[in-house]
Amino acid sequence: MVKPFTPQLVYVEPDALEYPSGKRLIKKFADMGVEIRETTSHNQIRNLPGENHFQKYRIAKSTLVIGVRRTLKFDTSKPSAEYAIPLATGCMGHCHYCYLQTTMGSKPYIRTYVNIDEIFEAAQNYMDERAPESTRFEASCTSDIVGVDHLTHHLKQAIEFFGKSKHGKLRFVTKFAHVDHLLDADHQGKTRFRFSINDDYIIKYFEPGTSRLHERIEAAVKVAEAGYPLGFIVAPIYLHDGWEEGYLEMFEKLEASLPAFARKDLTFEMIQHRFTKPAKRVIQENYPMTKLELDESKRKTKWGRYGIYKYVYQDEQQEAIKDTLGSYIKRFFPEAKIEYFT
Ligand code: SF4
Repeated sequence: MVKPFTPQLVYVEPDALEYPSGKRLIKKFADMGVEIRETTSHNQIRNLPGENHFQKYRIAKSTLVIGVRRTLKFDTSKPSAEYAIPLATGCMGHCHYCYLQTTMGSKPYIRTYVNIDEIFEAAQNYMDERAPESTRFEASCTSDIVGVDHLTHHLKQAIEFFGKSKHGKLRFVTKFAHVDHLLDADHQGKTRFRFSINDDYIIKYFEPGTSRLHERIEAAVKVAEAGYPLGFIVAPIYLHDGWEEGYLEMFEKLEASLPAFARKDLTFEMIQHRFTKPAKRVIQENYPMTKLELDESKRKTKWGRYGIYKYVYQDEQQEAIKDTLGSYIKRFFPEAKIEYFT
């Protein structure tokens, strides 16, 4: 079982200490005996311990930076929400195919933003612009926010902020089971709590440092019992020998655990595995022993929104994924909604 994350090293930006959350976090880490260093800005963080790239990368992933979010302009977040709400960046997990490896580039450390009220104010402005239509915010575009929230509680604050809002909805996804502190948040049904799931083989070989499938399912049951609307993202759907059985077992386990009341308002999102050439280079550098299949010649190309080709599965394979997983969902969760396959 993966333990809740504790940073090995904490950096703090001086102006973060002007915010209550910054003060609270520094006290917390000092009490825990974690080494705390000051930095004028996270961009100035150099000399992370470690003798080579491999070591530095791993230490960075267990380093937490307590900082202030300067840009309060939110990115859009299609297809699952209108905007990405920035609460943190980076992740302590070591999924070989993680999109953060390319988007975070040379800064794989985790950052948490303490100017949380300013971030909520910006969110309020976005909601006001679209009112009376509702506005959905995605909190996990640049991090696995749940993985760090047992320390910061910023996500919990966001859940309660949107709970009180008139037109706001929050959603996020996680591969971590450390959800206990979120169970008593006053969510008012406005947060959709999603778990990213995969079959046991894929989690075992490609998702080190994250909670195992049965732990994520146990956490999902707790979340459903706490009244949150629930969802699952099956991602990345990855074709390996025996994938049909692997995913069947995954759905069987889910079906055996989820209480009936959690199935009425349940969503599934399906995302096939994809990679880009730059991502392949980074994956092979960070996880040189990976078994991940990254052979461009076996895939088809798809033009990506960042102006770069993605390698996705061939059409027949995509059809097989849609048919097989779609039929499992219909069989085990006939009331659930499949939001998209991409
Ligand atoms: Fe990346 Fe999510 Fe894995 Fe974290 S849990 S390393 S964000 S894929």
